[in-house]
Formats: sequence, C-alpha cells, structure tokens
Amino acid sequence: MAEKKCDLCAGTEFEQIGNRDRHGNPLESVICKTCGLVAHGQIPTDEELARYYATEYRQSYHGEMTPSDRRVMRAWKNGERIFSQLQSHIEPNAKVFEVGAGIGCTVKVFELNGHAASGIEPGEGFQTYSQQKLLTNVVRGDLFEQPRDHSRELVLLIHVIEHFNSPRRALEYIRSMLADDGQFYVECPNIAAPFARRSKMFHYAHIHNFTPSSLKMLAESCGFKLEQQFGCSEDPNLQMLFSCRETSAPNIDASNYENTMQVINGATPLRYHLRPYYFSSRLAKVTSYLKEHLTAKQFVANVVQECQQFAADQQDKQPAEQRAAA
Ligand SMILES: [Zn+2]
Repeated sequence: MAEKKCDLCAGTEFEQIGNRDRHGNPLESVICKTCGLVAHGQIPTDEELARYYATEYRQSYHGEMTPSDRRVMRAWKNGERIFSQLQSHIEPNAKVFEVGAGIGCTVKVFELNGHAASGIEPGEGFQTYSQQKLLTNVVRGDLFEQPRDHSRELVLLIHVIEHFNSPRRALEYIRSMLADDGQFYVECPNIAAPFARRSKMFHYAHIHNFTPSSLKMLAESCGFKLEQQFGCSEDPNLQMLFSCRETSAPNIDASNYENTMQVINGATPLRYHLRPYYFSSRLAKVTSYLKEHLTAKQFVANVVQECQQFAADQQDKQPAEQRAAA
C-alpha cells in the first residue's frame, strides 16, 4: 500500500489522537504533524464509501428516507440564516448552486429571495422531497459528474466537505466549475470549538476534521481566497466565504498542529460538563425540543404553501412578461 499522505500538505508524519469513534467502535484518528489536519488513519476508498453510504449510513445517521417536519423546520431556518449572512457579500442576482443540497431548503430560500438557485443531492429520499414538496430545482447527482466549465457564480457546500475522502480533490473540482470571479461558501464542524467532547469527536462519516486554520489553508491552496469568516471562534461550525483566485502552493500555518493538539487534549468530559451554562443550556435544549415538536408541523405546512404560491406566481408572471414583450 502507498504511504499515507496528508490531503492538505502532502506531509507523511502523523500522530495518533484517537482510536474510537463516538459510538465506541474502533476508528483511528490522526493529526498531520506538518499542518495539523485531522483525518482517519485509514482513508476509505471511493468503493468503501459507496458501500457505507448505501447501507449503514442511511440506517444509523440519517435514518429517515423522508425527512421529518422537525428536520425540515431546522433546515429551513438554517437556510434563512445562511441567506441573511451571505446577502450583503454576494451579487443580488448571483446564480446559486449547492453541492449536497439535502432537503433543498437553502436552495429554496435563495430562490424565494430572487436568486436563480439549484443543486444536487445524492440521497433519493431527501432529493425527492425537495423536488416534490418544496418545488426546488434539486436533482440527484454527484459533484464529480458536474461540468467543469467555469460557469457557476456561487457554490455552497454545507456540511459536506468533512465527508470526502479527498477534500482537496473536491475543492479543486468546485474551483473548476466556478467563474474566475465566482464565490464559494463552506460550512463544516469546527474541531477547535471549545468544549467539544473528545469521545464524541470522531465519526466514520467525517473523514477529515477542520480547524479554522486548516480549512483556510486547504481552500487557499485550491484556488480560493478567504473573503469572510462568520460566527465567533467558539462556534461549533466553521462558516467561511471564499472568492476565486489563482491557485498557489499551500501556505502552511506551522502553529496549527500545536494549537489543534491543545484543543484536543483540553477536550475532556469533565471540562464538557463543567463548562459554563452547561445546565441552563441543557434545559434550553429540552425546552426548545418540546417547542419544536409542537410547532414543526404547522411551520412546514406554511413553508410548503409558500413554495407552492411562489411557483404559481412565477407561472402567472411569465405570460404577462411574454405579453409585454410582444
Ligand atoms: Zn498536513
């Protein structure tokens, strides 16, 4: 077998930082001693991943074939958050394309706000829901089947990058889909967020784990330049907007390894439970969970109606515009 190379910096020196996943099953996690990128010790092949997603993942992690109302409500609110934080950084008519669009809520929120928006989603259940209930332009598809024609204006990658066996290959591919003045927005878990529990850190499906620094290094070595980082440093999710530029060699942040080790070594269960507001945030979670159950059904009914009304309005508009043009 070929020697393992870091996907970010091509380094070959690693240190083991974990040997179990969050369910207690064997899973080796390592950190690159050159750049600090955290990844599985054994990177799964494309075939292994395909097998995993076709069987286990569906049942355990993303169990539902059709999303529950609670899941749709959360995804919709998340889409609204993403739109409102990107709004002032993008052109009002930018065409939006989401890779791994899930239920399609984010795509739809951009569409309702005047953007041409579309996406691809490999999961049949979510993609069908997206098209049939939310009337989105989300089709079943894979990133690496998309045309590399530099035609995309804004590509979204929300909680997807951690699932690739080579995030470098994915980002280089996305760069080749984007126009030279295009933009790229990515969100993924932040392994440097304080109070992450070490025993809960690792998951088979999350092949690479990013800190703010490693995500920035990787994207900047794939032809992007960081335009804006959203959220505070303690945010459990990284949220970064990049613009396109010429590809350059990775600029290695030598402190990322030490800094990441410090965070990981600090992530003990005791610290997690003793963190400020642990109890009040638990209580807030239980309360919001109950509230979600009560409100999700009505919320989703309203969303579905809004999507249908929007589609009807678009249809009404078309003949009127055609009449005006004639
Ligand atoms: Zn590395």
